[in-house]
Order: sequence, then structure tokens, then C-alpha cells
Amino acid sequence: MDLAFTPQQQAFRIEVRDWLAANVPAQPLQTFDTAEGFAQHRGWEATLNEGRWGMVTWPEELGGRGCDLIQWLIFEEEYYRAQAPLRVNQNGIFLLGPTLMEYGTAEQKARILPKMASGEEVWAQGWSEPNAGSDMAAIRSKAELRGDTYIINGQKTWSTRAVWADWLFGMFRTDPDSQRHHGLTFILVPLDTPGITVRPIPQLNGLPGFAEIFFDNVDVEVKNRLGDEGAGWQVAMATAGFERGLMLRSPARFQETARRLVELYTANRASADLDPGIRDAVLRAYLDAESYCLSTYQTACRLSQGGKIGAESSTNKIFWSELDLAMHATAMSILGARAELLPHAPAAAGVGNWLDGWLFAQSGPIYAGTNEIQRNIIAERMLGMPR
Ligand SMILES: Cc1cc2nc3c(=O)[nH]c(=O)nc-3n(C[C@H](O)[C@H](O)[C@H](O)COP(=O)(O)OP(=O)(O)OC[C@H]3O[C@@H](n4cnc5c(N)ncnc54)[C@H](O)[C@@H]3O)c2cc1C
Repeated sequence: MDLAFTPQQQAFRIEVRDWLAANVPAQPLQTFDTAEGFAQHRGWEATLNEGRWGMVTWPEELGGRGCDLIQWLIFEEEYYRAQAPLRVNQNGIFLLGPTLMEYGTAEQKARILPKMASGEEVWAQGWSEPNAGSDMAAIRSKAELRGDTYIINGQKTWSTRAVWADWLFGMFRTDPDSQRHHGLTFILVPLDTPGITVRPIPQLNGLPGFAEIFFDNVDVEVKNRLGDEGAGWQVAMATAGFERGLMLRSPARFQETARRLVELYTANRASADLDPGIRDAVLRAYLDAESYCLSTYQTACRLSQGGKIGAESSTNKIFWSELDLAMHATAMSILGARAELLPHAPAAAGVGNWLDGWLFAQSGPIYAGTNEIQRNIIAERMLGMPR
């Protein structure tokens, strides 16, 4: 086993680092959960794309650089190190993009991926429904095929950033007589189609981070179906594998949080109120972030040798979501009563964005499939236990 980077990988790292140093906005952008912040982030995506950094793993003709997964991990490390803006199109580039690579036609890839890489088209995920969250096979929103058009009726909910997104990738029941995960189809829907109503839902911090979406006789051309009719479950499971197993949350995100946590601890360790157990929690966070990184490199190597992400992506999802919670809880303990202050409060010196991060960390065990559901998958599919 050789854990050292090759000279080519090191040169790639320097190229990424130099470009980011020259281009990352000096002032942080506003949160993408506001209209203005969303527009700023879309602009940043266009800048990234001009440098051909929109999604480095895609082929050059589709807006990428043809990089392998190790280079992608290096890119991510440099990206978080440079504190570059979070990716507003993450549902597109990290979830739908790889799914299109596997299931999309040549026409769909050429039509969709370059505009996704440039941020011209931002994507939302439309899977959850009021009565189909953990139990996704209970989806009831319907798509009826008439000629070369699907007529969609129903409701989706909790769709992240759908308030300002341009397109939605959704799961719809195309066979009205089907049960459970049979008869579902993966369809791509332009959100400006007549008959669609998008209603914002406030997150824990009060901002409209997600939306519910109503479909009332919405016409969608059949060329927007991804994979075969009735094969939506299989396509969605590929997307879920990317979401939980590799792409959505790269290790660099947590390594950067761990680095900031060490910094916060160092700045506050002289405080008389600091519980001695906090030092252990900080160390544990740092080590866990490093372990997650090594484990992800191992997954990337396995995939590049033809392996697939399987049920073990569920262990991954539990690990990163619990790590994120633990790191933010430790930061709250270090900050004590100050942790409750917003960054612009007069007495807030040095609290940074820990409170916002802590609020968002609460959702980690819920989105991308709840951790209880991941534990069911591990029990049944990895450990072979009865349902
Ligand atoms: C920040 C955030 C962003 C999201 N973004 C999107 C998005 O973009 N698109 C989208 O489609 N959805 C999105 N979701 C929705 C998310 O996928 C669902 O919230 C999640 O799947 C859980 O579904 P539910 O909310 O209906 O809860 P329920 O399924 O009703 O679950 C309620 C509780 O019961 C537990 N439970 C349910 N079934 C079982 C079982 N069989 N065994 C053990 N425990 C069980 C769950 O773990 C949970 O604790 C997002 C959610 C959050 C929090």
C-alpha cells in the first residue's frame, strides 16, 4: 500500500490551490437560503465553470476535466481549505450528475450536464412526500404517459433550495396499479412548467431552505425520463449511493470543521470554566475526521478498480452525520453561553458561525435517509439479520 500522492497529483493540488487563491471571493457570500445569496452563489458557480472547476470528474466535453476520484478528493480538500463558497447546485453536481453518467442517454448528458456545471440550471431533489419519507416506496404522486408527454399530479415536500431552483429530479408512480417500489419512474421536471406551485418552508433558522411543490396536470416531455419506465427505484438507489456513500459530504468538509474546532479550543483553553473532557472531545473529532478521510480514499480506490458502492454507504452516512453533530456540540460547550449569540450580536466576538452550523448539523441524521433507516439497512443487508 502506498499512501503518498504521485507527482501528478501533487501538481494538480498546486494548480487547484493557485486558482482558488486567485478567485475565491474575499468576502464570504450571503447564505444561499436567501434570494440574493442564491444569486451570488449561482454567479460563483459560473466563475468556477470558467476555470473548468465546476465538476472536475466529468469528461472535458461536458464541462469537466476528466479527473479520477482521487483528484476529486484533492480538489475538495483544497476547496474547503480555501474556504470557498458552499456549492449551491450540490443536488445537481453530486447526486443527479453521477446518476446521469450511469443512466442518462448521450442526448441527456449533452443537454443537461454543461448547464449544471455552469450553475445556469440549478437542481432540486423531489423524492419526499407528506406520507413518503423514510418509506419512499409509498410515493403517490403520479405521472401518466399520454403520447410523448407525462401528465404529473401530486405533491412533493422538503425539497432543498427548490424555491429558486430551475429543475427538479423526482420519482413518480407511472403504473397506477403498482405497489411499493414497482411502477415508479425517475423524471426530470422544469420547475417553471405551468401547473407547478412552489411554496417555501422555513428551516430551523427561519430561512426558506426548502419547499413543498404541488403538481396540477403538469406536462413533461418523455425525453426527460431518466432510465426506463418503471425502473425509477433502481435509478434512485444509484443516486442514494452517491448521496450517502461518497459525493454529497466529502471528508474535507469535516476536516475543515475539525481544524476550526481545534482553533476554537486553543483560543479558549485558558478559560476556567472549560471542562477537561472537552480536550478529549476535540481530539476525538480531529481523529474521526481523519479516519473518515482515509476510509473515503479507500472507497475511491475500490470504485476506480470497478467496485460499486453498496449497503456500506449507510455506515458512512451515519458516521459523517454523527461526527458533524459531535463537533458542533463540542464547539457549543467551548463557547458556553456565548454560543447562543448570532455573529453580529455586540457581545459575540469570536463566535463565528458555530450556531448556524450546530442548527444545520441537527438535520444530518434526517436527510439522505434517516440514521434509523440506515441502521435497518446495515442490520438486514450487511449483517444478514431478519427484518
Ligand atoms: C435538511 C433537510 C433537507 C432535505 N432535503 C430533501 C430534498 O431535497 N428532497 C427530498 O425529497 N427530501 C428532502 N428531505 C427530506 C428527508 O429525506 C426526509 O425528512 C427523511 O427521509 C425522513 O422522512 P420523514 O421526514 O417523512 O420522516 P418519517 O419517515 O415520518 O420518520 C419519522 C421518524 O420515524 C423513524 N422511522 C421511520 N420509519 C422507520 C423504520 N422503518 N424503522 C425505524 N425508524 C423509522 C425515522 O427515522 C424518523 O426518526 C430533507 C430533509 C432535511 C431535514
